This record gives sequence, structure tokens and C-alpha cells, in this order.
Amino acid sequence: MSMKNIVVIGSLNMDQVTRVHKTPKIGETVSGNGLHHNPGGKGANQAVALGKLGANVTMIGKVGNDTFGHQLKANLAKMNVKDNVEVTENASTGLAFIMVNDNADNSIVVIEGANGEIRPEDVKSEWFDKMDYVALQLEIPIETVSEILKHSKKLGKTTFLNPAPAKVLDDQLLELVDYLVVNETEFEQISGISYTQHNDLIKGYEKIGVKNIILTLGTKGAWFYDGVKQFHTPAKVVKAVDTTAAGDSFIGGFIYELSRGGTAQQAMEFATEVAAFTVTKLGAQSALPYLSDIKKRAI
Ligand code: ATP
Repeated sequence: MSMKNIVVIGSLNMDQVTRVHKTPKIGETVSGNGLHHNPGGKGANQAVALGKLGANVTMIGKVGNDTFGHQLKANLAKMNVKDNVEVTENASTGLAFIMVNDNADNSIVVIEGANGEIRPEDVKSEWFDKMDYVALQLEIPIETVSEILKHSKKLGKTTFLNPAPAKVLDDQLLELVDYLVVNETEFEQISGISYTQHNDLIKGYEKIGVKNIILTLGTKGAWFYDGVKQFHTPAKVVKAVDTTAAGDSFIGGFIYELSRGGTAQQAMEFATEVAAFTVTKLGAQSALPYLSDIKKRAI
């Protein structure tokens, strides 16, 4: 069976991570323990989740002409992601400053940099040549996401949107989405309904107007609904050490399984395995599994 070709169009950041005993208050200075530069950004995380599993995946985005930008491009190649990322002179590479305290709570400042330079007028038909699936998040300008969705649907592609960070979205944009993958916060932001029981999913689905919705609920698992069938996939019971990239890994696993001909149910189950593996490891991209890690788990 031939695998579908996937393009992820989105953000690439170099995360700057330090550990602090406690998060500083306004005006306070605290010492940070070490500084790590980790490749991140929701777009790149989802592309790498797919690449590590062995999907046919290409990443489109922008980085600055600087050390971090070149490192992020080199990282894609190592992670089996085809690189169609442009180096721009107009901005520096996107950054996220992440402080993690002793309670594992984090505070994050994102500087969008070159991610904000992906403009609607940049969208071209060549991006979609030979592509079957188009995966998007909201860390690039919303007008660009909207243009990509219009272009994708005109060309008959299947579209996936993870609306993170959460924003209110207009109905015309949502109509172009085949698979919307949301956590509880994003579900509430988009539907205006706070999720308390599973009937809320159906109410939200009707308000939102996408083809398929996947609602992830952390340790409470995830729901799928396509207007006809609805099912729940429980999360695996594992010893979680760091839930960073749980959502990104779930999306990677879901799209991967669909891309090789799996059903929605199979894709939800595989995504659950991928996310469970990810939360047992520290970090974002470094925590994402290779396919062999998942096979090992299943035996
Ligand atoms: P993040 O923003 O941290 O990447 P998210 O809020 O987008 O995550 P979640 O709903 O927290 O996404 O998690 C996505 C999926 O990951 C869940 O549906 C579940 O299958 C799995 N998962 C998350 N946390 C755990 C956990 N502690 N143990 C096992 N599986 C988990």
C-alpha cells in the first residue's frame, strides 16, 4: 500500500530552556540552571513526529539567516523530514524562552520572528504538488493559514488543523478543515462550549462545522466524532515524566496511521500509543518515538 504524502506548513523555533527553583515575580531576579537550545515550534514538532515514525513528510516554513535557523534546517534532515524551509533576510529565527520551575510548571515567551514572515502571498501551488495531506497549526499568521486552507481545498487535499495557540476562528475558515484536533482549551475557545460531558462534543461539533473533530483530554484520553460515529480512546496508563509535546505527538501518530491507510479508529489508537511513549520521556522532539519504539511497546 502506498503511503500518502504529507506537508506540514508552520512554525520552527529554537527553544531556549532553563530550570529555575521558582518562577520570578515581577521585579525579581532568580538564577537559571543551565541553558539548552532545543528545536521546537508546533509545526516542526508535528513534522518531526511524522518523520521519526517514517512518514513521507515535508516541512514548509521560514527561518532567519542565522545560526539557529541553519541548525533547525539541519535537524529536519536528521529527523527524516524533507526540508522546504526558506531562509529569510527579513527576520531572525523564531525563539521560545522557557523557564521550568521545581514544580514542573513552565512560563514561556515566544518571539515569532521569521514564522511571522510567512505571508498569504507566499502560498504557491508548487507547495501542494504530489501532496495528499496538509497539516497546519496557528503559530504562523492566521491570514496565511486561511489562504493555505483555501488553496488546499481547491486542489482537493485533505486538511488537518490544530488550532494552537487557541484563537477564535471564523466559520469560513473552519468549513475548509477536514480534521480539527483540539484540546479542551482550544475546543472551548472555538465552540464557546466548555467540555464537561461527552454530549458537549456533539454540540461543539455542530457549532464548529468541520468534517471530523478529535478532542484530546490528557489522561482522560481522546474523542473522535465525524457527525455519525463517535468513539473514545482511553489514554494508556504510563508513568508520565514530562507531558511536553503530548498533543503534537498525538497529531503526528494520528496523521501517520491515516497516511498508511488506517481507519480513524486505528489512527486514534496508534496516536494514543505515540503520545503515551512521548510523555514518559523528557523534552519535545527528543521524546518523540521512532516506529520501532512503538512496535516494542506493543509486544
Ligand atoms: P500539550 O499542549 O502538552 O502538547 P495537549 O493539551 O495538546 O498537550 P493533551 O490532551 O494533554 O494534549 O494530550 C494529548 C494526548 O496525549 C491525550 O489524548 C492522551 O492520549 C495522551 N496523554 C497526555 N497526557 C498523558 C499522560 N499523562 N499519560 C498518558 N497519555 C497521555
